[in-house]
Amino acid sequence: MSNRLETLDSILERLRISIKKNGLKNSKQREEIISVLYKNRTHLSPEEIAQEIRIKDKSTSISSVYRILNFLEKEKFITTLETDKSGKRYEIAAKEHHDHIICLECGEIKEFVDTSIEEQQIKIATLNGCKLISHDMRLFVVCSKCQKTTQSHQN
Ligand SMILES: [Zn+2]
Ligand SMILES: [Zn+2]
Repeated sequence: MSNRLETLDSILERLRISIKKNGLKNSKQREEIISVLYKNRTHLSPEEIAQEIRIKDKSTSISSVYRILNFLEKEKFITTLETDKSGKRYEIAAKEHHDHIICLECGEIKEFVDTSIEEQQIKIATLNGCKLISHDMRLFVVCSKCQKTTQSHQN
C-alpha cells in the first residue's frame, strides 16, 4: 500500500474549507467517503464505497455517492482510475506517487513504482523540450492467478 502524504484530519479540514467555498452544507457522507478511501488498501468502485457507507448510514443512495465522488474528484481530494473491465475506481489523492497494473480478467489492481520508468518519462519530455507535469502509467495484464485458470480450462 502506498504511503499517505497527509493525515486524515488535515484532509477533512481542507474538505470543510472547500465545502464552505462552494457554498455547500456540511454532510457526514462526504467525510465518510473520504475516510473510507483513506483507510482502504485498494481502489474502490462507487458500489463498494456505497456498501461501506451503508454500514453506518443505511439510507445512503448510490446516486448521492456518485454526486459526492464527482465533487471530491473536481476538488482533487480523490483520483479516478479507468480499469477497463471493472470500471471506474477511486483512490485518495494524498498518496505517494505510484503506477498501476490492472488485470483484464479479474480486475485486480496492483501498485508499483519503477525509478527507471519514472526517470525515462522525464527524459523523454525534456528531449522534446517539455517539462513533465504528470503521467498516467497503466499496465493491462492477465495476472498469474488468471493465467492458471485459463490453462486449467484448456487441459
Ligand atoms: Zn509513475
Ligand atoms: Zn493506486
